[in-house]
Amino acid sequence: MMKARKTPLRTCIGCRVGSDKQDLVRIVRAADGHVEVDPSGKANGRGAYVCRKAECFDSAVQRRRIDSALRVRLKDDDNDRLRREFNEALDASKQGSDA
Ligand SMILES: [Zn+2]
Repeated sequence: MMKARKTPLRTCIGCRVGSDKQDLVRIVRAADGHVEVDPSGKANGRGAYVCRKAECFDSAVQRRRIDSALRVRLKDDDNDRLRREFNEALDASKQGSDA
């Protein structure tokens, strides 16, 4: 008998709602401490998840939840860069679904 495969459920660090992994954007901290948005969801390292919504990203940044989830201390520069990467990930996923 095959077991039914469940889609992994992850919790958004912005709104704290659990969603399918594919509906979230992963943010990853690599072994060297570099934090980046991981659109593939497959990069090695400690990960945190945010809904594909700007407001969830904003709320995660404002409450410094990326810092606590990934055990890092992000600077304003890092948050700005992550926001750009996050927006790029959102744009990329839109293009994918429209095609
Ligand atoms: Zn959310």
